[in-house]
Amino acid sequence: MTEYQPYLSIVVPLYNEEGNVRELHRRIHEALQKIGKPFEIIFVDDGSKDKTVEETNGLSPLTLVRFRKNFGQTAAFDAGIKAAKGEILITLDGDLQNDPADIPLLLAKIDEGYDVVSGWRFNRKDTLMKRFFSRGANMLRKILVKDGIHDSGCSLKAYRTECFREVDLFGEMHRFMPALLALDGFRVAEVKVSHHPRIHGTTKYNWKRAVKGFVDMIAIWFWRKYSYRPIHLFGGSGLFLSLLGTGVLVWMLIEKFYFGASLSERLWPLVGIFFVLIGVQLFIYGLLADIVVRNYYHSRGRMNYSIREVRKQ
Ligand code: UDP
Ligand code: MG
Repeated sequence: MTEYQPYLSIVVPLYNEEGNVRELHRRIHEALQKIGKPFEIIFVDDGSKDKTVEETNGLSPLTLVRFRKNFGQTAAFDAGIKAAKGEILITLDGDLQNDPADIPLLLAKIDEGYDVVSGWRFNRKDTLMKRFFSRGANMLRKILVKDGIHDSGCSLKAYRTECFREVDLFGEMHRFMPALLALDGFRVAEVKVSHHPRIHGTTKYNWKRAVKGFVDMIAIWFWRKYSYRPIHLFGGSGLFLSLLGTGVLVWMLIEKFYFGASLSERLWPLVGIFFVLIGVQLFIYGLLADIVVRNYYHSRGRMNYSIREVRKQ
């Protein structure tokens, strides 16, 4: 018997989503039946402590991946994505805030030839506070990450599965998938999708997400600009600081020996030494980062480029 080969794989992370699960499955199922392509529905239970898992009993079709404990939304996406067999992958949240009825909009963009299509919660139904933070994050992302989309935090996204041949998800990076994939040359688009208020359960995030998101953005900025040669950043700035510090020290020596100035009361010699030391440190970071990056590419058996296809004619 040949294995069932879905075209669409729907991946949903669930952490304490009782009250949402059955309705979510019903809506996804309904949307997929309308589309009429072979599909699978994958729920990833991220260590729920409520009745989420019980509520999945009897739902069909369903693949349920259960974590031993709560590992976080990104991990849940990763596990779901690795379990998926379809050509096209759709992710969405399990709290009914995303609408499965929007899936055809994403698919239409995929059919236009894009590899990643991100939902844009044009009419966001979240608290003022959340929208405020999200607005700030989106502005910063525009500067640091440059993925060209408005709303990276929207979980409703579609991908060609080949996107994930080369990407593992860590930390809370699922929010930056379009950015990470754009870096590898995948074609990214966005479509406006609807958004609903959360009715059952509560949000799983608080202000800490803003801090993590900020740090993640800097990491992606670094990755975007320097992942191939980190020594260009560290070595370059290290060299600059060392030279600056040396300049300051030379100037101090000239003042002392030619003009007989007393240096013991002055700050500049300390500043000079500080710059030289920090500069040398940065340079050494650069050398170490260079080794780490080489190892990274080597251990993953890949290079810093990504091939779309190889044609033999
Ligand atoms: N989620 C998860 N693991 C977590 C936190 C969240 O699987 O540790 C799931 C959650 O069940 C929901 C989705 O990720 O399906 C988005 O979470 P939430 O709605 O709390 O985020 P918000 O919409 O408030 O940004
Ligand atoms: Mg939500």
